[in-house]
This record gives sequence, C-alpha cells and structure tokens, in this order.
Amino acid sequence: MSFTLPDLPYAKDALAPHMSAQTFDFHHGKHHQTYVTNLNNLIEGTDYAGKDLVEISKEAFAKKDMGVFNNAAQVWNHTFFWNSMTPNYAAPSGDLAAAIDKSFGSLEELKTKFTGAGATRFGSGWAWLVQKADGGLDVVSTANAELPQLEGLKPLLTCDVWEHAYYLDYQNARPKFLEVFFDNLANWDFAAQNLAG
Ligand code: MN
Repeated sequence: MSFTLPDLPYAKDALAPHMSAQTFDFHHGKHHQTYVTNLNNLIEGTDYAGKDLVEISKEAFAKKDMGVFNNAAQVWNHTFFWNSMTPNYAAPSGDLAAAIDKSFGSLEELKTKFTGAGATRFGSGWAWLVQKADGGLDVVSTANAELPQLEGLKPLLTCDVWEHAYYLDYQNARPKFLEVFFDNLANWDFAAQNLAG
C-alpha cells in the first residue's frame, strides 16, 4: 500500500492574495508530490511498508535512516500545513482560546512567539504550536523535516518556513509571511480539533 498526494482542503486559489495559486502549484504539486514519490520508492518492499507516516518517521529518525525520515516526515508535515490554513479565518475560541490565554497570556503574545520562532529558525524548517505532556501549550521550531512528535510534543498548528513556502509571494521576507499566516490564514478550528483529539 503506497502513499498518495492528498488533495488540498480548499481550491488552490482560495488563499490568494496571501498565498498564490502559483505557490500551491509548486509547493503542493511539485514539492509535496516529490516527497510522496521518493518515500514510496524508498520503502517499497521494506519493513516500513504498511506503517503510518509518523511511525515511519520516528523509526527512521531513531535509525538515522535519513532518506526515509526526511521524505516520510515531509509528507506528513505538508499535509498538516495545508490543514493549518483556511480561507475562512476565525479567531481562536472556546477551550483553545482559554488554553492560549493560560499558556501565553494572550493571542498577541502567542503571535510574537510563533512568528519569532519561525523567523529565527536558521535555514529550513517549521514553526509549531504544540501541546506538552503536562497539558500546557508551547511554541517550538524544528529544523528541516523534523516534527514535534520526535520530542513527545503534540502538534496543533504549523507554518512551513522553508523558502519554497513563501519565496514566490514574499521573496526573502519570511517575517512578513509569518505575520500574514498568523493573522489571515491560521486555521484555529483545526488547532482546536487537534487539542481536543
Ligand atoms: Mn514545504
């Protein structure tokens, strides 16, 4: 059973002008597809076949099997990223809003931490809102393909800060991209579902 590229959860022009259809053509149609294709080629006929993406990622990371790790984790990360955005922005509410206030003091303070984590990640990686084992929320950034589950953290929301995520729309302005993501695209309903799940 091989992996397939999941459809976007919205039309490829639905997030414009914040994220263009051209960015999705490359980012979803080329980058994400390539990770899927590479992963299928790497795991065919191996013990990884039949396992889920997070299982494969954890196992390959522990074994320093970096080809498999990078591709499996990037397939999972990108699907999570598409779902971390919505064309119908709505501010956090309910239990998620309460958890944000408890851990950060305010949504504005979470924004400062989240955009700061993404902007200061040197090279390629990801900014994440996560839930810790003690139930509190935190912001982390990871390098390259790494995902929070490697550290026992539960991901709630992510933003891709690889250059391919923003270069067509924002050129080098990663901080601007992160601000637009946070204020216009973040899917707080998805984060709330992950918090509850
Ligand atoms: Mn990407």
